[in-house]
Amino acid sequence: MGEITLVIHGGAGTILRSKMNPDMEAAYRKSLQAALDRGYQLLASGATATEAVVAAVRVLEDDILFNAGKGAVFNRAGRQEMDAALMEGKELRAGAVASIHNVRNPIELARLVMTRSEHVLLMGEGALEFARMQEMKMEPDDYFFSQQRYDQWKKLQGTHQTAMDHNDEDPAKKMGTVGAVACDGNGNLAAATSTGGMTNKAFGRIGDTPLIGAGTYANNKTCAISCTGHGEPFIRAVTAYDVSCLMEYRGLSLKEAMHFVVHDKLLKIEGEGGMIGVDAQGNGEMIFNSEGMYRGIKSSRGQNEIGIYRS
Ligand code: ASP
Repeated sequence: MGEITLVIHGGAGTILRSKMNPDMEAAYRKSLQAALDRGYQLLASGATATEAVVAAVRVLEDDILFNAGKGAVFNRAGRQEMDAALMEGKELRAGAVASIHNVRNPIELARLVMTRSEHVLLMGEGALEFARMQEMKMEPDDYFFSQQRYDQWKKLQGTHQTAMDHNDEDPAKKMGTVGAVACDGNGNLAAATSTGGMTNKAFGRIGDTPLIGAGTYANNKTCAISCTGHGEPFIRAVTAYDVSCLMEYRGLSLKEAMHFVVHDKLLKIEGEGGMIGVDAQGNGEMIFNSEGMYRGIKSSRGQNEIGIYRS
């Protein structure tokens, strides 16, 4: 069995140590560790990279601290619309959903699109019809409501401004898109990402998260990547696939490729945010150009770290 590695993120943005209080920080660390432990435990007991990333993302979707599933932010119409994607590196299989609501775990729906439909991406009503056919667990609007996110949206309501959830001035109101990438004992890679998108986004806006190659990508030949940040520049830069291309066609290492994309290509088009990545040797990386990114890594090489700020 080769090295096993799980890397997770809980969103990027202006996360300043000076604005965080100890209780909030402890709560974030605890949640990130729970997701990391859940996914890693599966990998360690022989589960696939796909199973591990879905399990880790589910833990974060069920946690109100993060902008995915239960903690999703409000769009311009005062509703939550969620996006999610899953990709496997072995045969480039992928499934994604966009602009869905009331589905408890969007990442599970993305998995079913991959395994039980002939499509890659389903959106809106069609995705919801598919969810009902698959007997996915649905939740009423109340389940997704949180006062903090509502207040966050109210500040922008009536404007055309959008905000990354972590860029709210009040740290107690910061939440984030979630993602996980893994390398399992057979050298198979997988990436999963799930989000409520940007606060006050236009009704029907789809971000980078569910777009294969932009926010989510996996290929056993190169890497698995999950992104977080201001989605539009990430789409324009075809961010996750670009890391894979730099590795495949230019021979860069995972770290070199991620560094170039995050600190050069994205910055040139004001793409604030970051990404997590893993390669088939089990090397894991977490790189961002924002003030902070909620993140964690656990591996058979003995890594077990949670990070929030720029170090
Ligand atoms: N990338 C996500 C989006 O634009 C948001 C985020 O990562 O916070 O929908």
